[in-house]
Amino acid sequence: MEGGYFYEELTPKEKETISAYFSSVDKNTFVLTNLPEVIKGTLFSRYSRSEKGARRLLLDEFVTNKDIAEVISSDPRPKGNDSGLATSRAEDFYQRILVGYGDDSVAELAGVHIACENISSLAADLLTDSRLGISPLEKSARYILFDKQVRGRYLWHRDRRLMESKHASLYGQTMDLLFSSYAKWLPVVMEHVRRVSPRDPEATDRAYASATRARACDILKNLLPAGRLTNVGLYGNGRAFEYLLTKLYSSNLEEAKELARDMHVEVAKVIPSFVKRAQPSEYITTTRDTMDQYCSKTEGDSGPEGPYLSLVDYDADGENRVLAAMMYPYSTMHLSALASQVSAMTPEQRKKLITDYLSKRRTRRDKPGRALENSYYTFELCANYGMFRDLHRHRVVSQERQALTTDLGFDTPPELEPIGLDGEYKGVMMQAKAAYDTIVKEFPSEAQYVVPRGFRMRWYMKLNLREIYHLTELRSSKQGHPDYRKVAQKMRDAVAEKHPALAQYMMVDMNEYALPRIESEKRIDRRLSELDTRLKKEEGA
Ligand SMILES: Cc1cc2nc3c(=O)[nH]c(=O)nc-3n(C[C@H](O)[C@H](O)[C@H](O)COP(=O)(O)OP(=O)(O)OC[C@H]3O[C@@H](n4cnc5c(N)ncnc54)[C@H](O)[C@@H]3O)c2cc1C
Repeated sequence: MEGGYFYEELTPKEKETISAYFSSVDKNTFVLTNLPEVIKGTLFSRYSRSEKGARRLLLDEFVTNKDIAEVISSDPRPKGNDSGLATSRAEDFYQRILVGYGDDSVAELAGVHIACENISSLAADLLTDSRLGISPLEKSARYILFDKQVRGRYLWHRDRRLMESKHASLYGQTMDLLFSSYAKWLPVVMEHVRRVSPRDPEATDRAYASATRARACDILKNLLPAGRLTNVGLYGNGRAFEYLLTKLYSSNLEEAKELARDMHVEVAKVIPSFVKRAQPSEYITTTRDTMDQYCSKTEGDSGPEGPYLSLVDYDADGENRVLAAMMYPYSTMHLSALASQVSAMTPEQRKKLITDYLSKRRTRRDKPGRALENSYYTFELCANYGMFRDLHRHRVVSQERQALTTDLGFDTPPELEPIGLDGEYKGVMMQAKAAYDTIVKEFPSEAQYVVPRGFRMRWYMKLNLREIYHLTELRSSKQGHPDYRKVAQKMRDAVAEKHPALAQYMMVDMNEYALPRIESEKRIDRRLSELDTRLKKEEGA
């Protein structure tokens, strides 16, 4: 110890032995590098049963193990993180060392990046229907055009059961119709967007082209069916993957089960023991079958077609709870005493408390405090599938959806009317509906593939005020899609009606924009130009 600073002593030789595996060998904060995922997980799990630090543990327990030493000392850098041999030896070691640990959270200490390519949007929804252990990113229907054919075929999912059924040609023709309409109308819509939103002198050609293209994609993406092929990259920990695989294995879609098998093989190449319990769950499948019986009994009460967003439930006492929680960390009183205290406050005192707690935020990245998690709101939405896909990505929100159908009507982008495409668009959507109505009788799950994003569906979102701040501020930002910007604005209004004082500091952009992405694109140009200038300066120096 020097000057009050504790650190683990390592000899120069020890430092040399392990320097490739730690970003620092003489500081108390460091990153693990060049180690197989399983070793990293095991190493951290040892913290809970040892007084040693990670570097000393690696030296004493891992380097002294012959098999493991071979794995980690054989010049790890060129091989990257994991070779098959490394993982299988590390795996045996892990089994031995962790035999006494009964804690599932150990499986959160190692992770993988996995790419799932050419899967349907429906399958992608199953991947992204995950909570905090998984971070997904998907190919965007906003920035990428879906007008191309690969080897003469549009990119939609050829579902084995549908393609072997009597509906194969109806399914195929409908999917092709949706994609060919998208391709045919794309140049017309782009030209229209450029005509109504001429380039402002401050925007470069690149920024303008990008923003107008995104706007055209926004308009036409209503045509893209749930069977459209997409790519999703996921980073996640072992525990989250094990549950995700179990859910996929238990899905009623063949595609999801196949995806589970493929993902399982690949994930197990890196973190086998963390996903070894993933398998079809009888609990999930039998519960689904049982619950299905209830649905047929309640059919017929399907309510209005939509679109709508309604606040169906909220904490009537939410403001009091939030106010008490605002003071709680700074107080020595118990929560119910604080609740009585805030109930007795005058309106001015309550207003001041809220102002002191929330008014100093400068941007949405200044997150409001956790006190806001004490008031909950439940919304039901009937809105298009595209919008569901965007909002579904908020992992902290409790959300559940109903099956995708064509029964609740579809949205027609208003921009199609002035260019005379609205009639044709409606015709194409009705053909998709006719195909769905035929296929659903025999294949209720697979029929969803043919449903375009413009059709509406129902889902609920239950979330607390803190997440409402996050979601509405993010989703109302200028560059967002006009559809979910409206949802964010309506959500804000619904909360403001019930709890005006709490809603007043939400930074929700209530304006409308003709070319939403243009300011972001200009910002990108400014940043690129600043970067160029800096690089040139550095080169010259
Ligand atoms: C303009 C725009 C463009 C987008 N484009 C794409 C796109 O092209 N492709 C695409 O796939 N998605 C896209 N998204 C969706 C985006 O990637 C997020 O999935 C979505 O916005 C959810 O936001 P979130 O992660 O902030 O919120 P939530 O999932 O609601 O999480 C709330 C907060 O919790 C914290 N949090 C949640 N999970 C984690 C975690 N695993 N690790 C650390 N912190 C966490 C973060 O602070 C987060 O802000 C886009 C979103 C916007 C607004």
